[in-house]
Amino acid sequence: MRELLFMEPVFKESIWGGDRLGKEYNYDIPSNHTGECWAISAHPNGDCTIKNGTYAGHKLSEVYKEHRELFGNVPGDKFPLLVKIIDAKEDLSIQVHPDDYYAKTHEHGSLGKTECWYILDCDDNGSIVVGHHANDKKELTQMINEHRWKELINVRKIQKDDFFQITPGTVHAIKAGTLILETQQSSDITYRLYDYDRLQNGKKRDLHIKQSIDVITCPYIDEIAATKEIEDSTYKVKELVTCQFYSVHKVDIFGKALFHLEQPFQLVSVIEGNGFIDSYSIKKGDHFIIPSTYDTYTMNGNMQLIVSSL
Ligand code: ZN
Repeated sequence: MRELLFMEPVFKESIWGGDRLGKEYNYDIPSNHTGECWAISAHPNGDCTIKNGTYAGHKLSEVYKEHRELFGNVPGDKFPLLVKIIDAKEDLSIQVHPDDYYAKTHEHGSLGKTECWYILDCDDNGSIVVGHHANDKKELTQMINEHRWKELINVRKIQKDDFFQITPGTVHAIKAGTLILETQQSSDITYRLYDYDRLQNGKKRDLHIKQSIDVITCPYIDEIAATKEIEDSTYKVKELVTCQFYSVHKVDIFGKALFHLEQPFQLVSVIEGNGFIDSYSIKKGDHFIIPSTYDTYTMNGNMQLIVSSL
């Protein structure tokens, strides 16, 4: 089969969400508090529908289960990756994720969550939370119990086109005014450490202090992002990260370029511009999978893509 699989995204409303997914990506969002677009996902909490071709109307989870040949016959019963766009109009809670081992034993066999962020856009003085300043678990526990949040958390300035790898055990938060493309393990397990004492329907959202202390890595060690780059006259491919769970590349197309599918399959998000992949017309906001059976393809146009793969 030589067909791309285009996704119908799933949207999530939240107290911190905004309207940029509608305004800037032309999505039909449920309200102006839409925080997340689950763009390529087979997770039960947001399973995308295929929009085109042979599998139109089928869920990605179903196609993954029944047509593993499209995914290079990779092992495992769950589609391993999830790609999201996040619109943070307000600050997200300060949180941490477990690794596979902790999630398996404490969260009914779920996967852990390693995630990474490509900054699509942010305010002029944009920042995020990544890491903390406690030297060991004892100091961490003390700072948390005494609510010394300002002292504990590490705030970093960001700008458009920055990239961050967030390993399990890393304290992190997306802050107001930021649009992010996130590639992650297909997991929905989050431990909320601090929520700025905000109220939702008159109540504070649950915190998960014990689990957070269990999983937070002490001390925090800064992840060094990869920076391998290949440039040609019509394209540029920049490796953002390669870890045990995924590889993520930023691809700039400015003309016609031929590519080979080197991984079992690729998840592609168009983040800017428009053009073609073979005879398929693609534009900003489109998300699709290049299946294993597709092999060689030509990109043509003026566009920027984030390509995630195993
Ligand atoms: Zn997270």
